[in-house]
Amino acid sequence: MVRVAAERGLVGEAEPVAGFLDVDGVLDSAHDLFAAFEDVPVLHTFAVKAAALVPVLRLLADAGMGCEVASPGEFAQATAAGVPADRIVVDSPAKTRAELTHVLAHGAAVNADNFTELERMDELLAAQPSASVLGLRVNPQVGQGTIAAMSTAGESSKFGVPLREARTRIVQAFAARPALTRLHVHVGSQGCPLELMVEGVREVYELAEEINRTLRRPQVNSIDLGGGLPVDFSSDDRPAFAEYATLLRARIPGLFDGRYTIVTEFGRALLAKNGFIAAVVEYVKDAGGRRIAITHAGAQVATRTVFMPDAWPLRVGAFTADGKRKTGVLQRQDIAGPCCFAGDVVATGRNLPELAPGDLVVLPDTGAYYFSTPWSYNSLPRPAIHGFTNRDGEPRFATVRTRQSMAEVVAESGAEHRDALGALGRLEKA
Ligand SMILES: *Cc1c(COP(=O)(O)O)cnc(C)c1O
Repeated sequence: MVRVAAERGLVGEAEPVAGFLDVDGVLDSAHDLFAAFEDVPVLHTFAVKAAALVPVLRLLADAGMGCEVASPGEFAQATAAGVPADRIVVDSPAKTRAELTHVLAHGAAVNADNFTELERMDELLAAQPSASVLGLRVNPQVGQGTIAAMSTAGESSKFGVPLREARTRIVQAFAARPALTRLHVHVGSQGCPLELMVEGVREVYELAEEINRTLRRPQVNSIDLGGGLPVDFSSDDRPAFAEYATLLRARIPGLFDGRYTIVTEFGRALLAKNGFIAAVVEYVKDAGGRRIAITHAGAQVATRTVFMPDAWPLRVGAFTADGKRKTGVLQRQDIAGPCCFAGDVVATGRNLPELAPGDLVVLPDTGAYYFSTPWSYNSLPRPAIHGFTNRDGEPRFATVRTRQSMAEVVAESGAEHRDALGALGRLEKA
């Protein structure tokens, strides 16, 4: 597809960086997910932050999925995609009264993060009844994965109600609120082994059983397992939804006996393997014994990789300007980006065929969290994103998002308020 994209000018001199999404791959991933949880009542939602792109949300909605949203913006994107409210789950960590009022009015499911938020919801619901499913996020405190910043089930994570410290209070909160019917858990995103994820779910399942036993009624009738299935960025292996579901079934059979609706919120595992970034090599230079290729893919599209290269390593492919895979003697090269800071390097010391100006580099596995959530450093425009299919050997593309125009970049930087500061300051026009 790199070749066809280059041929059609979707990446090249005029479009120095672009993102590409494999539509069939996305649908295959969704299919794998549905297959792994067939035979149980289930709602699969897509974690919008992993690819906050309306056409992607629409594609997944058509495949039967909903959306997990964590901000008013993501809620608006899910709504714009036509996702019905009863397939939206709201997990924002800092929900304002206005946000809560809005999502409760729409009937989207809401997972409260803490007891204060539950009380706030009580007040709002007293004034305005709602069709929303109401849940409480619990931190099972089962420990962290390999990336601390992505782990949400450590002893002192900022998310949810800490289970060990607040178990009794959680049961009381459910006793006092018959409308509270869901428990939510999300152990972490990337870097958490399956065993740890299953352990977190098991803790919350046990809690659901305890609440229902204590209250002598099946009040908790759904469990939201969160997302977090890890992705292998070093190989072509695809995330194993089936393996995770099999482990869950083995360890927590009661979760699958039909009493509970299961909700999932996968993001990375659905999209990462189904997207890549292609970028032009603008210059190649040597400095201090180091060969550096200056490309158009840097921290603006691979922010985490640039700032935490050990936690988020990406593979790099070397291609010619017309999109053919480069061959030839391997040479150690650093792949740098276009941002104005020295650390803007996406890969260090990679053995690749020697890159030259005009060549393309390809960053695979970047379908989630990379080009879909760009960083506007240096006022670099958000790159275009194209969906593609290669069914029956006939490549076709569709625009997911156009590249941000210079006019949009300028408008976004406050152009309409150009004279605001001068008017405020002491600078009188002569
Ligand atoms: C980020 C997040 C997800 C998705 O995580 P992935 O690792 O992309 O699957 C799901 N649920 C919550 C609450 C999250 O914060």
